[in-house]
Amino acid sequence: MRVCVVGSGGREHGLALALGRTAEVVVTPGNPGIPGSVATPPEEVDADLFVIGPEQPLVDGLADRLRADGRRVLGPGADGARLEGSKAFMKDLVRDAGVPTARYGTFAEVEPAVAFLRTLPGLYVVKTDGLAAGKGVLVTEDLDEAVDDVRRKLSGSSFGDAGRTVVIEEGLTGPEASVFVVCDGQRAVALPPAQDLKRVGDGDTGPNTGGMGAWCPVPFAGDDLADDVVTRFVTPTLTALRERGIDYRGVLYAGLMLTPEGPKLIEYNIRFGDPDSQVVLLRLTSDLADLLAAAADGDLTRAAPVTSSDEACVLVVAASEGYPASPRTGDRIEGLAAAAAVEGADVLCAGVGADAEGALVTKGGRVLDVVGRGPDVATARDRAYAALGHVSWPGMHHRTDVAADA
Ligand code: ATP
Repeated sequence: MRVCVVGSGGREHGLALALGRTAEVVVTPGNPGIPGSVATPPEEVDADLFVIGPEQPLVDGLADRLRADGRRVLGPGADGARLEGSKAFMKDLVRDAGVPTARYGTFAEVEPAVAFLRTLPGLYVVKTDGLAAGKGVLVTEDLDEAVDDVRRKLSGSSFGDAGRTVVIEEGLTGPEASVFVVCDGQRAVALPPAQDLKRVGDGDTGPNTGGMGAWCPVPFAGDDLADDVVTRFVTPTLTALRERGIDYRGVLYAGLMLTPEGPKLIEYNIRFGDPDSQVVLLRLTSDLADLLAAAADGDLTRAAPVTSSDEACVLVVAASEGYPASPRTGDRIEGLAAAAAVEGADVLCAGVGADAEGALVTKGGRVLDVVGRGPDVATARDRAYAALGHVSWPGMHHRTDVAADA
């Protein structure tokens, strides 16, 4: 099988490695650090299966265009992509499906929004309806702050049109976990849960990022959680989507809060997460290309069961100076070969470009995903940090506490 992976980051490098065990892989556009990268646009690539990594091309209808051309695609059409593109759409759909989730209301006017806030027990969550790059969510115990935030979002002053509608939720508490589920339109197969770190600094300090580290397996979230997510969350969601005429063939990434009353859905993303999918995919021992092709064909029953190695996998992101506010680019990356030579280590290239001489340079905020594998989390973690010790560029930074408590 020849698989075309669409995207250019660490997630796509991880997908290429995992798919490459059983399939021939091309990545478009990829980057100079990902083997098999081609500049050809996806519409012109000859492949038996297309796997679309990032959300933006899905929201823009790339899967629809490829399917209209007779291609086999893993990734929802623009209709299903609304699960991530509109929080109001997502909440209404999962409410109708009976999925456990926080109580909420959707508002375009200040007065009813404030009235609803006053009915909540004391932890307030205000979200922009539209995509806001992970920055559109306020969680606060201060009612006045929540009211101010509603005003700013609805007026368009803080998030433009993405905030002209807000979703207000009751605040939930508990650890968070994410589960990736592969869907064929009706049926769903879960992959093992992973955990990631969002804040830029050690001890969860500093601003939010796209993710600074991840690990799998997760001690408090095992196969039971994955099964529960399929049965009580994703399968009813797929049914509700079908009732709206949406045939969802792709990945659903369920973000959960493990509350004292049980797991509740925080969000759905419509694709593999980055960097948490890398640590899940690199542990798989079953045939990923076969699984994703079966989902794309609408028939997961024919795929072999998902199996994973007993090894643990820990990933540390190496970021460029100034990330996340204003990442500096163009610095030469040293030590890649030595890092990859560390036992049990893989280096995935995310924000990587090439200079005029063809040397690899930084080209984004999150530059490398340094991954360690080992018989337990501690060994995997030591290997990831040993490999990371070989790479450098001016201003490189990373967290030192990834998987420290795991
Ligand atoms: P991202 O893209 O960063 O995942 P997002 O904009 O899609 O964010 P959500 O995932 O819905 O927004 O929320 C972001 C974070 O806010 C969650 O990971 C969680 O920590 C917190 N959060 C969201 N909803 C709630 C809630 N109801 N109660 C408590 N915390 C919440």
